[in-house]
Amino acid sequence: MSKKDLTGSQRTRLLRLRDAAFWRQNGKCYWCDVKMFLPTSNRHQTSPFLCTGDHILERSKGGKTTRENIVAACKLCNDTRSNPSKIQSTDFLWSEG
Ligand SMILES: [Zn+2]
Repeated sequence: MSKKDLTGSQRTRLLRLRDAAFWRQNGKCYWCDVKMFLPTSNRHQTSPFLCTGDHILERSKGGKTTRENIVAACKLCNDTRSNPSKIQSTDFLWSEG
């Protein structure tokens, strides 16, 4: 599910909830426990360890953009969850174990 269909206000709320979750989780990804970093500017950042807001229950399944349903997840986990077909292309990132 693309984030592009979020309206502006939903996106703002997601970012606020993401920041709160980031601090709540001590800066670690909810799914893989990797140490993440928050975007420092509006520059386009593509690191797999960029902190993103992720819906526990996917929006396509009725998940809401609320404190209870938003966790801080690294970009890699977020992308992998929303695009399962991409898992194979990112396998190399896990190979160092
Ligand atoms: Zn992760």
